[in-house]
Amino acid sequence: MTDLISIEHLVKHFRLARGQYVHAVDDVSLNIGEKEIVGLVGESGSGKSTLGKTLLGLHDKTSGSVRLRGELLPEKYTAADFQRYAPVMQMIFQDPYSSLNPRMTVGEIVGEGLKLHSAKSNRDIRDEVAQWLTRVGLEADHMSRYPHEFSGGQRQRIGIARALILQPEFVVCDEPISALDVSVQAQVVNLLDELKDSLGLTLLFIAHDLSMVRYVSDRMAVMYLGSLVEVGSADQVFFDPQHPYTRILVGSNPEPDPRQERQRQSTTIQGEIPSPVNIPDGCRFANRCPQVMDICHHNTPELLPLKDITAGAEPRKVACHLYA
Ligand code: SF4
Repeated sequence: MTDLISIEHLVKHFRLARGQYVHAVDDVSLNIGEKEIVGLVGESGSGKSTLGKTLLGLHDKTSGSVRLRGELLPEKYTAADFQRYAPVMQMIFQDPYSSLNPRMTVGEIVGEGLKLHSAKSNRDIRDEVAQWLTRVGLEADHMSRYPHEFSGGQRQRIGIARALILQPEFVVCDEPISALDVSVQAQVVNLLDELKDSLGLTLLFIAHDLSMVRYVSDRMAVMYLGSLVEVGSADQVFFDPQHPYTRILVGSNPEPDPRQERQRQSTTIQGEIPSPVNIPDGCRFANRCPQVMDICHHNTPELLPLKDITAGAEPRKVACHLYA
C-alpha cells in the first residue's frame, strides 16, 4: 500500500509564560496508507487532537515533518498554502454545536468550500450542496435553514457534508461522535464507514470509544502524553493489546451489551497523568504502570516492532521495556 501521509518525528510544543512548554506532541512517526483508516485513541489530553490539527497545518509544527504522497508539507501554513491544501485535506470537528456558524444557513456552510476553492457558479454550488445534503441523510431543502434548527446528529451530518464536498483525499475526524447521544453515534459512524468506501477516503479517526474505533479502522495507534505507545492492526490492538497502557484502556472500554458489561471485569488506570509541562524522565507511563521496572524511570522506550511477530502477521510496534 502506498503511503498517502508520512509523519516523521513530529513535535508540537506550545509556549507558556516564563519559558515553559506544553509538550502536546512529542516525536510522533506514523504512516497512513492510501484509503487506509487509522484510529487514534488515548485519554483526554494525550495530544490526539493537536496531532490531527498539526497534520492539517492548523497548528505550526515545532519540528519534524509531514508529507503528502511524498511532498513535504509546509512547517507553517500561509493563506496560499491553505488555499492549496484545503481541497485535499479536511477536518470533521468534534463539536457539531460550536463548529457551525449560527449566522450562516446550512447551504452557505456546506457550500463555503466550493465558493473559496472552485470557480463554480452559485447555481452549480447550490446543486452540489443539495446532492451532498441528500448523501449524508438530510434533505435538499434543509439548505435554507440555520444550524440551531437541527439535532446534534443532524449537525454532525452537516459538518461531514461541509468537509467532504471538496472531495478531499485525507480527512481528520476529530472525535466526531463523542458529543453525540449514544443512540446516534452508530448512525454517524455507519455514515462515515459508507462514505469512506464509496469515496475512497483516507481517514485519521480520533476517538475515545475503542470498540467504535475498531469497527471503522484498519489500524489503531494508541497515544499517551504526546507519544505513540502502540501501533498495530485494529483487531490486534483491541483483542491482543501488548502495551500495559493499551491493556488498561481496552479493559476500561465499556461493553455495548449491558449483560456483558455487568459480567465484565473492568480495569481502571491508577494515578494521575503527568503534566505535559513537566514530562518525566524515562517511560511517561511509569507512575501508573502495574509492570513498572527500575529501567522505566531512566530510559525512554522507543516505538519498535515486536520481535516475536508471527510470520505473515501485520507488523506491530510497541514502546515498552518489557519487549526490549
Ligand atoms: Fe510499564 Fe516500563 Fe513498559 Fe513503561 S516501559 S509501560 S513503565 S513496563
